[in-house]
Amino acid sequence: MTLLGCIADDFTGATDLASMLVRNGMTAVQLIGVPAADAEVPKADAIIIALKSRTIPAADAVRESLAALAWLQRAQCRQFFFKYCSTFDSTPAGNIGPVADALIEALGCGFALACPAFPANGRSVYQGYLFAGSTLLNESGMENHPLTPMTDANLVRVLSRQTEATVGLVPFATVEQGSGAIRKAMTALKEQGRRYAIVDAVTNEHLFAIGEAASQHALITGGSGIAIGLPANFRAAGLLPERANTAALPKVEGHTAVLAGSCSRATLFQIGTARDHLPTLELDALATPDADGLIRRALEWADGKLGQTPVLIAASAGPEQVAALQEKLGRDAAGAMIEHAMAGIAEGLVACGVRRMIVAGGETSGAVVGRLGVSRLRIGAEIDPGVPWTFAEGRGPAMHLALKSGNFGARDFFLKAFTMEGA
Ligand code: ADP
Repeated sequence: MTLLGCIADDFTGATDLASMLVRNGMTAVQLIGVPAADAEVPKADAIIIALKSRTIPAADAVRESLAALAWLQRAQCRQFFFKYCSTFDSTPAGNIGPVADALIEALGCGFALACPAFPANGRSVYQGYLFAGSTLLNESGMENHPLTPMTDANLVRVLSRQTEATVGLVPFATVEQGSGAIRKAMTALKEQGRRYAIVDAVTNEHLFAIGEAASQHALITGGSGIAIGLPANFRAAGLLPERANTAALPKVEGHTAVLAGSCSRATLFQIGTARDHLPTLELDALATPDADGLIRRALEWADGKLGQTPVLIAASAGPEQVAALQEKLGRDAAGAMIEHAMAGIAEGLVACGVRRMIVAGGETSGAVVGRLGVSRLRIGAEIDPGVPWTFAEGRGPAMHLALKSGNFGARDFFLKAFTMEGA
């Protein structure tokens, strides 16, 4: 039986949520997009369907989210979760409000809480105002986001602009009193005709209490933080056994590689640290500004080097080289060309027997996963917060993949990933 069916509005957010659930004792499988109606339901306590619906037109986000819900309902999930960003990334047109409205209507539950708080990552909600660290959301830099500028930190107002329904607040003072008081407050808001409650949360204790209060809710909406208390509900109901190691993955045998297409600072540092320890190829995209040429260069270089130690192949470059390539090819074309090259290199490496691979970069990961035809990821142990090893299945051979958002991970990420327990 699947306990929790989740719909995430982007890929790395889905992994983040899955990791949170695994850390708290559930097994989790992430599906990339809505599977075919007759696709086999993976055996896992939680299934997370990763969409790319955060910034697409609201009507499309609603349609895709409802399709995901319908698939999860067929998988007989007991509870549903709509995962969005802990900075509540959205615009007055959506997509959080329209998607949540549609899910509430489809489930016939009439009410859902909304809580993006994630104290471990500095996101807290107080009196309905979302803070990023010590600053209000609209002073945190998020007000300048290119796609979802967040110019108001008051989530009651923000969500109200995205829905016809009314939005209430469960304030800090109530949340402090624990799950009983929170449950009562949510019931009262529902009885007053409110469809949503923004719920304050500043600490993990608050999140656990909110989770407990929502144990009977059909739908929970929020960031991955609010999922922290849900496994305990299933355990208390006798539905989730104590599992020894939810992060254990099936073993794979084969060569190891790191592919870096991120130009974020953390990734550049990680390459700098790994360079002295691993056979490393830093591609010169400016000298070879075509994908096929880069693929050929990388695969020729890797030939004979795959073996005992991982190889590292990086397109990553500092701001000046990135700007130079963008000037030469155009901004979007430069990114797309390198993504295409990295996907081709990944495909070639898998054909050469690589079965454990790290991919650095969000867009780069998307391109690689698409090319390899990966359709599901079983979530394993975290290498660093937010980046787990996964067991990837799909069109090609099963393999271990770690998909790293560019700025995630400590400096020695590429080195420790292959030696850690469970890798
Ligand atoms: P992050 O997670 O750090 O944002 P992404 O993979 O999402 O990383 O984005 C990095 C983008 O930069 C990709 O589109 C990638 O193709 C592009 N890129 C990588 N190397 C270079 C380079 N040397 N010059 C220009 N663009 C590059």
